[in-house]
Amino acid sequence: MNGKSDIEKALVVLSGGQDSTTCLYWALDRYGTHGVESVTFDYGQRHRTELACAATVAKIAGVTNRCLPIDTFAALGGDALTDPEVEVASDVDDSTGLPNTFVPGRNLIFLTYAAAYAYQRGIRHLVTGVAQTDYSGYPDCREETINALQTALRLGMESEITIHTPLMHLSKKETVELARDLGALPAMAFTHTCYNGQRPPCGTCPACLLRAKGFAEAGVADPLLAAP
Ligand code: ZN
Repeated sequence: MNGKSDIEKALVVLSGGQDSTTCLYWALDRYGTHGVESVTFDYGQRHRTELACAATVAKIAGVTNRCLPIDTFAALGGDALTDPEVEVASDVDDSTGLPNTFVPGRNLIFLTYAAAYAYQRGIRHLVTGVAQTDYSGYPDCREETINALQTALRLGMESEITIHTPLMHLSKKETVELARDLGALPAMAFTHTCYNGQRPPCGTCPACLLRAKGFAEAGVADPLLAAP
C-alpha cells in the first residue's frame, strides 16, 4: 500500500452543533475511529464557543479536529451570525423569505475548502449535517444545491469526491433518534446550538426552539440541558 487514498476515510465538517455532531457519529459508525477526521471553520462567528465545542466533541469522539480560518464572511457582515450590529430576528426577511441568520454562500465555501483539505489528505468522502426538512429554508442546505456542488467539485478537482448528507431528509425528531441510536448523546452535552451564544442555552431563539422540539418529539432528554 502506498498512499492514503487506498483507505476509505471521511472528513466531517464539524461546527460544534447538534447536527454535525450526529454526522460525526454517523461517520464513525461507517468508517471507524481511524477512518474519520474533522474540520471546523473559524468564519468570524460571533459565538466563539462554537469552536471550543467542536474541539471538545472531536476529542470525545476520538478524532482529529483541524480549525481553518475564513475571515471574509465577517468582513462582508449583514447577517446575525457574524455581524455584531445585527440582532437575530424571529421573523423571516420580507424580501428574501429567509431568516437573518442566513450567511450567503457559507456552506458552498465550507464544502469547497473541506474538499480541498480532503483532496490533500487523500480523503474522498465529505460528511455534512445540512438538511432540507424542518429547518430554516436555507437554500444552500438543499439536496439540489449539494448535488450541484458535488458535480462542480468532481469536475474542478478531477476527483471522485462524494458529499454525504445523512440528515438531508430527516426531521429534527428523526435526527435526535439517529443521534441516540449512534451513541452520540454523551457528546451532545458539549454541543452548541443557541443563536444568542448562551450556555445554558437561552431557550427562546429559533435555534433553541427547533432543538427543543426535536428532543421533545423524540422523547429524549437533551443532555445539554443537564450539563453543568
Ligand atoms: Zn437560544
